[in-house]
Amino acid sequence: MENCIFCKIANKEIPSNLVYEDDYTVAFNDLNPQAPVHVLVIPKQHYSSLNELDDANVMSALLNAVKEVTKKLKITDYRTVINTGKGAGQEVFHIHLHILAGRPLKWPPG
Ligand code: AMP
Ligand code: ZN
Repeated sequence: MENCIFCKIANKEIPSNLVYEDDYTVAFNDLNPQAPVHVLVIPKQHYSSLNELDDANVMSALLNAVKEVTKKLKITDYRTVINTGKGAGQEVFHIHLHILAGRPLKWPPG
């Protein structure tokens, strides 16, 4: 989708620090990391949020990518987050999963 920063990252129109890529997804380091490991996993296809995501193949590809990233980075303890909607803190409207690790992560998050 035009003017979507994460579409541009998926299309390699703007640079990112890529961690993983497959036919359906790319994963890259968050620009403003909230933990020593902070990776974003996105589908190559544009969906604004989880509310719009309606393809089960893409859903499973996203979780598969999380597992590939954590294997690659050799992390077993991590948090995955999907912020959906402004009220939940979503700022980029191309669905993305956050993977956070490398420091103690408390629960509940607050
Ligand atoms: P959210 O608040 O869930 O929409 O998360 C958006 C995330 O995207 C934030 O953690 C930002 O730091 C991150 N972000 C925004 N632009 C970029 C970019 N060009 N490259 C990497 N991460 C980005
Ligand atoms: Zn997009």
